[in-house]
Amino acid sequence: TRTPVNVTVTGAAGQIGYALLFRIASGHLLGADVPVKLRLLEIPQGMKAAEGTAMELDDCAFPLLKGIDIFDDPNKGFEGANVALLVGARPRTAGMERGDLLAANGGIFKPQGQAINAHAADDIKVLVVGNPANTNALIAQASAPDVPAERFTAMTRLDHNRAISQLAKKTGADVTDIKRLTIWGNHSATQYPDIFHAEIAGKNAAEVVSDQAWLADTFIPTVAKRGAAIIDARGASSAASAANAAIDHVHTWVNGTAEGDWTSMGIPSDGSYGVPAGLISSFPVTCKDGKYEIVQGLDINEFSRTRIDASVQELSEERDAVRELGLI
Ligand code: NDP
Repeated sequence: TRTPVNVTVTGAAGQIGYALLFRIASGHLLGADVPVKLRLLEIPQGMKAAEGTAMELDDCAFPLLKGIDIFDDPNKGFEGANVALLVGARPRTAGMERGDLLAANGGIFKPQGQAINAHAADDIKVLVVGNPANTNALIAQASAPDVPAERFTAMTRLDHNRAISQLAKKTGADVTDIKRLTIWGNHSATQYPDIFHAEIAGKNAAEVVSDQAWLADTFIPTVAKRGAAIIDARGASSAASAANAAIDHVHTWVNGTAEGDWTSMGIPSDGSYGVPAGLISSFPVTCKDGKYEIVQGLDINEFSRTRIDASVQELSEERDAVRELGLI
C-alpha cells in the first residue's frame, strides 16, 4: 500500500475550503488510488469551524482519507507537507488601499513561506489561491530560500476554465474540443485570455471565431470580470468553481497535460516572452512527471503583446510594493 500524501490546506474553514476538502479526500486532487492525510491550517478564530468540517469529512468515511489534523500554527500545519494549497488570505475590504492589502497578506504568506521552508517535505508543491495570488506566491517563495523556486505557483486555472467555457458557448463547440488556451499575466482584471494559439476541434480558435470585436469587448472582459458577476448573481463569491480549479491545477501538475494540449499556471518567470525573470506570472505550460515547462516559440501578435505587457506591468508594480514593505 502507498504511503499517504500529506496535503496542507490553509483557510480550511472558508468557503473555498469547504468545496475543496471533500474532493481532495475523495481522490480528485492526486488520483483515485492515492491515499491522503489532510492537515488543515486556520487562524485561531477559524479552528472551531474547521473542526466541524473535519467531523463531516469523518462522516464520509472516504476510503482514501487516512487522517485529518487541524492546526493554528503554520510550523505544525506544514510539517511533512507534500502538497500545500494556500487558500486563506486577507480579503480586500471597502476603502482598503492596495498597499494595505499587500501588507496584510505579507503578514500571512511570509510566515507560511518560512514554515514551508523549515518543515515541508522535500518534494513540496505549493499552489496559492488566496488573492492577490501571484504576489502572495512571490512572498511565500521569497521566504522559502531552500525550496526550489519553481515549486511555488499561483492559480490562473479558474480563468483558464472560464475562458474555455465562454469560447465553447460562443462557437457551439464542446469544452473537450478546446485545446491550447492560454491565460497570461496576473490573476486580476488585467489578465489576458489568449485564443490566438487555441484550437477548436483542431482548427485555430481565432479563425473560427473571426470576430475581433467579440474578442476585445465581450470575451476578454467577461472572463476577467466573471468573479464580480458571480458575486452579483449568487450573493457570494465563487467558491466551488475556485475549488474545482485548484483541484485541476494540482492534478495536472502531478499527473501531466494531455498530448497536444497545455494549461495555464502562474509560475516564476524565467524571462520567457519578455516577462521579467522572477515574477510569478501565468504562462502556457505542459506538465509531465510532476514538472512543468513553459511552452516556447509561440508567435505573439500586437493585440496580445499589449495586453500581456499591461498585466506583467501590474505584477512588477506589486513586486515593487512588497519589496518596499520588506516582504521579499
Ligand atoms: P474564501 O474561501 O471564499 O476565499 C479564500 C481566498 O481565495 C480569498 O483570498 C479569495 O480572494 C481567494 N480566491 C481566489 N480565487 C477566488 C475566486 N475565484 N473566487 C473567490 N475567491 C477566490 O474566503 P472565506 O472568507 O470564506 O474563507 C477564508 C478562510 O481563510 C477563513 O476561514 C479564514 O479564517 C481563513 N484564513 C486563514 C489563514 C491562515 O490559515 N493563516 C489566514 C487568513 C484567513 P478574494 O476574495 O480577495 O478575491
